[in-house]
Amino acid sequence: MSETPTYIGFKEYTEHIPASIPVAVQQATNRFVGGRAARVAELPQWEELRQIASDIRLHTIENMDVYLTQFETNFTNAGGQVHWAATADDACQIVTDIAKEHGVKTAVKSKSMATEEIDLNKALEKAGIEAIETDLGEYIIQLAGTGPSHILAPAVHLKKEEIADLFSEKLHIDAPSDPIELARIARETLRKKFLDADMGISGANFLVAETGTLVMVTNEGNGRMVSTLPDLHVAVVGIDKIIPDWESLTVFLKLLARSATGQKLSTYTQFITGPRRAEVEFGPKEFHIVILDNGRSNVLKDPVGREVFKCIRCGACANVCPVYKNVGGFAYGWFISGPIGAILSPQILGTKTARELPYASTLCGACADVCPVKIPIPTILRHLRRRVAEGDAVALPTMPAPIRAAADITSLVLAQNWIYRLGTRILPAVMSVFERADGWIPTAPYPLNRWTKGRPLPPFTAGFRAWWKKR
Ligand code: SF4
Repeated sequence: MSETPTYIGFKEYTEHIPASIPVAVQQATNRFVGGRAARVAELPQWEELRQIASDIRLHTIENMDVYLTQFETNFTNAGGQVHWAATADDACQIVTDIAKEHGVKTAVKSKSMATEEIDLNKALEKAGIEAIETDLGEYIIQLAGTGPSHILAPAVHLKKEEIADLFSEKLHIDAPSDPIELARIARETLRKKFLDADMGISGANFLVAETGTLVMVTNEGNGRMVSTLPDLHVAVVGIDKIIPDWESLTVFLKLLARSATGQKLSTYTQFITGPRRAEVEFGPKEFHIVILDNGRSNVLKDPVGREVFKCIRCGACANVCPVYKNVGGFAYGWFISGPIGAILSPQILGTKTARELPYASTLCGACADVCPVKIPIPTILRHLRRRVAEGDAVALPTMPAPIRAAADITSLVLAQNWIYRLGTRILPAVMSVFERADGWIPTAPYPLNRWTKGRPLPPFTAGFRAWWKKR
């Protein structure tokens, strides 16, 4: 079973970020940002589309039960089988049960953030089933034994030389560092797996309630092979992927590829409504969908936080985020990274477990500016910071008592001018006790020692007004 949560934590990861991550991440995200800007500029109605998409998403969030029920009815009528999973463990159990019933030994997977979320590969492995990732990036990180570090490009943190070394080591070959050659090696290795697999596993970008259709948007063609070659297919999809109808879909498809990879449309857009029909040659004979809650219903109770479910997982917010670009995706500690991870993970895992994430932001607002569905990410971050510190109707406060006390004292000092002025006179004398000969403070007392663990602190010499006067 999945050992949820698999959250590792911001602090632990930041202590072990390899130096190469920011370089590789910045090169890749800068390419995405440039591509997005060019495609957006071609569409004069871009802002209008963003507003329509935001309105559709909000409407769907408010009526999620209605649309999910409609989807279930239509998908079932088309011959598919719907399973509801309340937790990650439930979802893993459902998928492994289906696999065991069919004697599955090998499963091929297309890229799916939902299966990353529930740690499905581990559950399948425990059940004796080999699950092979077939998206190139996912295949690379599966070989590396890590999770994804970007929503769209899971192996974005690796340079081509590092991937060549990985292929050489894991596939026992002498792999060159040429990207085309590396892709060819992966394609040849995976081809046989596609043909031999007993089961295909995927996620979905959207579920269209109107017809019970699952929509998959991909660039590599592996999604089509996963969902058509094996006789058995299982899709794992979060409840938030539901949209009302095909008219809504046209809006999201216009926004998704442009925001994600700077394409007008992704290479493959697949619409799957149930299993193979009698008159059709390809497609699975059995089609199951596992609709995953895993804490989402709870998030829906928060009128501010639930806007996170407007997300269409384009990754644009991560590409422009100064924090993400400097620390990379692993620093976010869970399957989803960047600003969207910073607002989703604390809500799903709880503000106690992922307490640091709402603070992993400069609140510069670049994420909200590029978000194609207008998620007010900085507003949600501030809202979650308040929940961490003070608690609210949804959650109790989770900020440790000493930090809360320090915040209360700071608030008092900043509100009372005479205390502030007195403090600015006393502080330089107190800080000088900890100062080194070079003028820096290498070890400060609690709570500032959390900072000095990573880097020295400049000494406090004067308050702002005194400093300003001197200038
Ligand atoms: S929050 Fe917005 S920008 Fe970020 S991944 Fe989701 S849709 Fe894209």
